[in-house]
Amino acid sequence: MLELHCHTTFSDGTLTPTQLVERAAAKGVKALAITDHDTISGWDEARRAAQPHGLEIVPGIELSTTYNDRSMHILGFYPDPQKIEDPLNERIQGRHRRAQKMAEKLMELGFPIELPPMPGNMAPGRPHIANALLAAGHVTSQQDAFQRFIGDHGPAYVPYEKFTAEEGIRLLQDCGAVPVWAHPYLFRGGIVEDVLPELVKAGLMGVEVYHPQHSISEERVLEDFCEQYGLLMTGGSDYHGPQPKPKPGAVDLNSLNISLDLLDGVKQAATDLRD
Ligand code: AMP
Ligand code: ZN
Ligand code: FE
Ligand code: FE
Repeated sequence: MLELHCHTTFSDGTLTPTQLVERAAAKGVKALAITDHDTISGWDEARRAAQPHGLEIVPGIELSTTYNDRSMHILGFYPDPQKIEDPLNERIQGRHRRAQKMAEKLMELGFPIELPPMPGNMAPGRPHIANALLAAGHVTSQQDAFQRFIGDHGPAYVPYEKFTAEEGIRLLQDCGAVPVWAHPYLFRGGIVEDVLPELVKAGLMGVEVYHPQHSISEERVLEDFCEQYGLLMTGGSDYHGPQPKPKPGAVDLNSLNISLDLLDGVKQAATDLRD
């Protein structure tokens, strides 16, 4: 089956690309997208690991953008790696600066942490801060870290550096990638029926309908929107690995049982963008 949303150790996943691919193959995944936050560094290793399994790797990305000043994630499938490299480096460096700022805020609050080693080609995120808080003994779990310190309204939260969803969608299109709104019902800056038409105007081509944190009824609503606006439908488990304790509602690879047929439309759209 199909998995179009997964993370590796190049962002905030806990499995390396090789480990992720091995697990996906064992779970019966036939096509797997690598969609790390703001980096494509995991693609090559994933492709090497996938070859002996006959598993297809779909090159992807999950861009961190803002809309109404709130975090909005835009998936992109099949970006041209050469074209997207420099803009992504800028985003990754922004994530490094943001991690430092959160560490400084925690220090000021009286909860010093030691950031883990973070190579320049990986994209640090809040889960890394949560783990550092855990390692320092300041919190009892990742969840506790989000609740007390780094949740969207927490005292040590720092937003992404300014990069709007419209800019993100344009960047993806310019790089030949199919832009898809990730997990619309996790967005906190507006309601889906108002926001979606604006994103479509900006060039959005698809919606992540199937996601572990969407209810069945939300998925039906999104299916209808996709039909209405002529948008592609995608889905994935947003898998971040088995450890530490998965966040509430997290599911394993391939548990959404998404049909491989959904990939055809995405591939065709990517081909059309390049022509
Ligand atoms: P960032 O993009 O750095 O703001 O980090 C967002 C990531 O943090 C999401 O993709 C999730 O993986 C993770 N996350 C968000 N909220 C929570 C939470 N309450 N508990 C655990 N992980 C979370
Ligand atoms: Zn993540
Ligand atoms: Fe996301
Ligand atoms: Fe994700």
